[in-house]
Amino acid sequence: MMKAHIISIGDELLIGQTVNTNASFIGLILSDLGIIVSKQSSIPDTEEDIISELHLTLAKNDIVITTGGLGPTHDDVTRSAIIRFFKTELTLSNEVLERIRERFRMLNRSMSKVNESQALIPKNATIIPNNAGTAPGYWIEDGEKIVIALPGVPFEMENMVQDYVAPKLVEILHEEKIIKRTTLMTTGIAESTLFERLGDMEALLGDAKLAFLPDPYGVKLRITVIGDTVDEVNNKLLEIEQKIRGVAGRHIYGKDNEQLPEVVGRLLKERGLSLSVAESCTGGFISHLITNYAGCSNFFERGLVTYSNAAKVELLKVDEDTLSKNGAVSLEVARQMAEGIKAISGTDIGLSVTGIMGPGGGSEEKPVGTVFIGLCDNNVCTAQRFKFANDRVINKKRTAQAALDFLRRHILGISYDA
Ligand code: ATP
Repeated sequence: MMKAHIISIGDELLIGQTVNTNASFIGLILSDLGIIVSKQSSIPDTEEDIISELHLTLAKNDIVITTGGLGPTHDDVTRSAIIRFFKTELTLSNEVLERIRERFRMLNRSMSKVNESQALIPKNATIIPNNAGTAPGYWIEDGEKIVIALPGVPFEMENMVQDYVAPKLVEILHEEKIIKRTTLMTTGIAESTLFERLGDMEALLGDAKLAFLPDPYGVKLRITVIGDTVDEVNNKLLEIEQKIRGVAGRHIYGKDNEQLPEVVGRLLKERGLSLSVAESCTGGFISHLITNYAGCSNFFERGLVTYSNAAKVELLKVDEDTLSKNGAVSLEVARQMAEGIKAISGTDIGLSVTGIMGPGGGSEEKPVGTVFIGLCDNNVCTAQRFKFANDRVINKKRTAQAALDFLRRHILGISYDA
């Protein structure tokens, strides 16, 4: 497999003024193509630093990608470093010059001499067109090695990677092997538990790769297979997916970055079911996630934030005695909240959450991270206790995801005992 190094050029990255989003963007694209990103580095914008980093990284990699320092000002020294590194010279590109002129005409601005100088490009470079700015990128092949220099402005760089760099890399890679990936989206199961359940990794994967990618919403499992034919990679992928589903199937809600609200929304739509939500500790976040899904008006009737006890009593008709006996964070209150929102909205399903998000408010019996999720449909009213960690904002995300998964499982009849 090909190996790549990403060099991010710019003092602003080193002093923490700019967050290095370029490297993460390129890293994602390259790894999706099956190229191994061996390292990333951030370096100051001096010719010496750029030249020595090119020496170091090209010796160990097939591809080196730089971002930054291609602009027209005095601190943009990537081009001169490249000239010195490859012992080449600049040549005028009429194509780039015309493109820059056209850009200034379009913006109705006069073009300065420094912009004109951006049409001077290293003799050994192929131009990577920049449709969103003036600095072109360079694609330089040196024997078996490739150096790609891109501007630092994130949206310019991103367009150039998507429109030019990635397709060209795909062409090169396809001369070799076929690589295919799929990502299984899991929730409600810890990374370590998943790992244990999957057992012997070598037996599961053979020469394939499996990455565990956890975030507050769950763990994504990215499977990468490599082979000589399309059939071979498809069969390998299917076999691994089936093995994973065999041990963790009930936790898998989707594939390839599908989001849970979308999955749940589709299920509700298919079955002609309407939904209302009563939220306490998530403060409307569940409704926010549902309404991110463009087709939600087909099933989502309303969401209420009933944060105080008074709101729960007044709007959802939660029983005051139950509240004072069990506390607002309890199985019975969650159940009554779900019952209440279903009744006042007239939906097929009412979903509710109540919990202690932290940092304060916990007790021995109900520590921070304790959450109750309630659900009522036309047949049953049920509630379930969950336990998350101590970070308030992360707890809100986890609670919202758990509530949506509770709903998904309820619709599909998947129990919680495994
Ligand atoms: P320009 O043509 O605008 O001069 P350039 O190639 O010279 O482009 P820089 O001057 O290095 O790029 O950076 C331009 C802008 O892009 C700056 O606002 C900078 O903070 C931002 N930027 C540079 N590198 C990165 C990076 N690695 N991640 C995110 N933003 C970046």
